[in-house]
Amino acid sequence: KIALILISSCLAGFEVRYDGSAATNKLAVWLVTHGQAITTCPEIMAGFDIPRSPAEIVNGTASDVLDNKAIVQEINGKNVTDKYRLGADLVLKIAKENHVTAAFLKDGSPSCGNCSVYDGTFTGQKISGRGITAEVLKKNGIKTFSDNELSVENVLPFVDDVVKESLLNITIFN
Ligand code: SF4
Repeated sequence: KIALILISSCLAGFEVRYDGSAATNKLAVWLVTHGQAITTCPEIMAGFDIPRSPAEIVNGTASDVLDNKAIVQEINGKNVTDKYRLGADLVLKIAKENHVTAAFLKDGSPSCGNCSVYDGTFTGQKISGRGITAEVLKKNGIKTFSDNELSVENVLPFVDDVVKESLLNITIFN
């Protein structure tokens, strides 16, 4: 089986977020347990601990970070740009090796955000934008979604024919 879907690890129930929590989504768990998706956490892959300091993209967008015009910074002021770029590159490598065509990513994260990220002031304000990993995946032709878009309708084009019917008949996701 070649997995076509990639999911943020925290959505699949792994307690890997900066504060040690998960962001469990039932459909994400179903896709992983039924062999339809693989999970990655770019921050853990880059070597960050659990828990770790919150970080935000400062003074620009994810695209600016990739162009060396903005940075990813921890709340304590530490520049962690290189590790965020490393995590994104490692996730892209795994996505390519597994022929991933769609990624469902936890929104709001400086790595995985796909609709919104925090604005870089560490005041809880969100702005529209993507995290570093989401930006790298999108730039490489992978269709990126946020967890707000994690619906049966949106995953259906990317799952095996044999599970399509059971997916449509499961009501816990509706
Ligand atoms: Fe979840 Fe992505 Fe943050 Fe890892 S980096 S905890 S997968 S949102």
